[in-house]
Amino acid sequence: MVLTHNLGFPRIGENRELKFALEKFWKGEMNETKLQELAKDLRLENWVSQSSCDLLPVGDFSLYDQVLDMSFILGNLPHRLNDLKGNELDNYFRMARGRSANNDESQCVRAGEMTKWFDTNYHYIVPELTGETEFCLNFERLLIQVKEAQALNYAVKPVIIGPVTYLWLSKCKDDSQPLDYLDDILKVYQELLAQIKQLGVDWVQIDEPILVTKLGDQWQQAFNQSYKSFEDTGVKILLSTYFGSLQDNLSLASDLPVAGLHLDVINAKQEVNKVLGSLTNDQVLSLGVIDGRNVWKTDLNATLDWLEPIAKSLGDRLWIAPSCSLLHVPVDLNLEENINTEVLDWLSFAKQKLTELETLKLAINQGREAVKDQLNRNQNSINLRKASQRVHNASIKAKATKISERSTKRQSVFEERIKVQQAKLNLPIFPTTSIGSFPQTKEIRRARLQYKKGQLEHAEYKQLMHNEIRQCIKKQEQLGLDVLVHGEAERNDMVEYFGEQLDGYTFSEFGWVQSYGSRCVKPPILYGDISRAQTMTVDWIEYAQSLTKKPLKGMLTGAVTMLNWSFVRDDQPRKETCFQLALAIREEVLELEKAGIPIIQIDEAALREGLPLRESEWQEYLNWAIKSFQICANDVQDQTQIHTHMCYSEFNDIISDIASMDADVITIETSRSDMELLDVFDEFKYPNQIGPGVYDIHSPNTPEVGQIVNLIDKASTRIPKERLWINPDCGLKTRQWDEVMPALNHMVLAATELRKQVNS
Ligand code: GLN
Ligand code: ZN
Repeated sequence: MVLTHNLGFPRIGENRELKFALEKFWKGEMNETKLQELAKDLRLENWVSQSSCDLLPVGDFSLYDQVLDMSFILGNLPHRLNDLKGNELDNYFRMARGRSANNDESQCVRAGEMTKWFDTNYHYIVPELTGETEFCLNFERLLIQVKEAQALNYAVKPVIIGPVTYLWLSKCKDDSQPLDYLDDILKVYQELLAQIKQLGVDWVQIDEPILVTKLGDQWQQAFNQSYKSFEDTGVKILLSTYFGSLQDNLSLASDLPVAGLHLDVINAKQEVNKVLGSLTNDQVLSLGVIDGRNVWKTDLNATLDWLEPIAKSLGDRLWIAPSCSLLHVPVDLNLEENINTEVLDWLSFAKQKLTELETLKLAINQGREAVKDQLNRNQNSINLRKASQRVHNASIKAKATKISERSTKRQSVFEERIKVQQAKLNLPIFPTTSIGSFPQTKEIRRARLQYKKGQLEHAEYKQLMHNEIRQCIKKQEQLGLDVLVHGEAERNDMVEYFGEQLDGYTFSEFGWVQSYGSRCVKPPILYGDISRAQTMTVDWIEYAQSLTKKPLKGMLTGAVTMLNWSFVRDDQPRKETCFQLALAIREEVLELEKAGIPIIQIDEAALREGLPLRESEWQEYLNWAIKSFQICANDVQDQTQIHTHMCYSEFNDIISDIASMDADVITIETSRSDMELLDVFDEFKYPNQIGPGVYDIHSPNTPEVGQIVNLIDKASTRIPKERLWINPDCGLKTRQWDEVMPALNHMVLAATELRKQVNS
């Protein structure tokens, strides 16, 4: 009999209850007892939702982040927390947000660094290690959850992050190395496993997703040492890997002395046979056959065709599950009322995925006949999606095959075209500009919402937006900026805004996914061939240009960022989908050019995060990602200036690819690192113009003029000053006008100062 289990469930709640409770708690509007009660209710609700599974995950719930939870379980808290008052929960949120629960200023510390969890859009708090680190088991948090589930008679499977992955995710704050801590940390893990065993728990799931990345010898060795040391704990370990295939870690993983191994079949299907060959007679194989990272229905019959022979040979030793934790998909499709019914029928969120899992189990255990109706309905949805004209549009597909070399290359080289652009734009040295968005006031948000709900006529809405644009232009002129923008008041989100206007996209109402802590995102769903019915931005931007003699920069979101921040169709390679997006954006670029907009910025905020987990696969991704940008941007005339923006600057390793995008100007985030991130330009001579962000827009503080001048002085030791622009780090939409005006004023003053230096 095959058995089902789940690796983890979204913890935010189907109506983001956790988010709202946390925010209340942080504001002092909810006390700790209430917060903990709500958390408990959510856990209970989640177990009910998963109760069709034979084994339920426990400990996957977290008030903020599961990696931070693991740090607490291991007693690994930075020493800077030691002297602070408050209880454990206070310290927990201090590590997460830098602030104690009650926002007492004197009780603030530096928050832990936050970074992306593998190639997902989930962010975890990076564990810190120093010579002072002393691990010490703090079992309470997990204990509570296990007891709660056991009290309800669920078969529980505690979930923890494995020691090797934990160390790999950690950062050493001195000259030590993560693996220096292995012996110490293993003692705590052994204790932890022993405690779990005492609770009468059979299985524990230990997540080691780093097994899908390239590992050096020492890390491989650490796996052997760790799992050998767990052999005596008596608890059965399900070692779980996900987000990729094992490749050269395959024999390492399958030889570890564990009771079971979980593979992500969505990504590692081709490895299953090999693993089957190396299993011992009592080892369990868990196959993640349902995509835990995407929102499409599983083709159940096709899955069964593949799975049934394996089930025959493994019998009880086969488990099935989603490929990874369902944390990365929305909770419940049944809440959606506004998705077109045809498209709705192709989708599956966390709860629906567990129903699919149950159907697979019944089909295997009792024969397909037992779930005939479910299978038929599923087959019907799969067939309809495959054949749907909403998905497939021959003329769009044909266009994508006709992308020529010419249309991805600018007419002339940068040195030539910059002359033409300069003759037209007549910009001073150190030109100043912004990244696009300006503060989104309450009035703007209200207008957008009312318009969306149909409470505002288009003409009225347009009027309101025009007012905003007018004010925004006026303020930029007052400030004396050189290149102006329209301010993006009409955009709620840089991907959603474009997605809403493209055919092939749909939007959920409640499809929230946790990004970090209380923050959730609602990725649009890209289901079909992409086309643009009409212009998406031209009216707003043209209007803005009509108000000023200064050059206006039209703002677009690039294809790669659209792709990386959406749930994307799984029936064709991402590359093809990206090219289709690029063709649609390109049409918009050309329309803006036709409308006389002299500068066009194509944001690629998320280009870097699409990099595959393994470096050996980077180049393939970069090739099509960069080509997509070139498709968007490079069909314009020499005199049109193309800008791009990226929200990070760790691109030392991909700088030559970024240069090959051939944008005339790139603006990047750099100020937080004191321009250190520009080190790459010592080695690599970046050929075009560049605007290293001179102040951090995430902070409400006003940067000093001198500070900005210093930063640009620093930058000009690497990049000739004729090629430097002066701009903030990123868009200003989350700031207030009274923060933005003084900051930009200082930026303009700094530019004046720098120009004086050049002339003297
Ligand atoms: N143009 C966008 C803005 O200014 C860019 C946002 C981003 O890079 N994340 O808001
Ligand atoms: Zn940005």
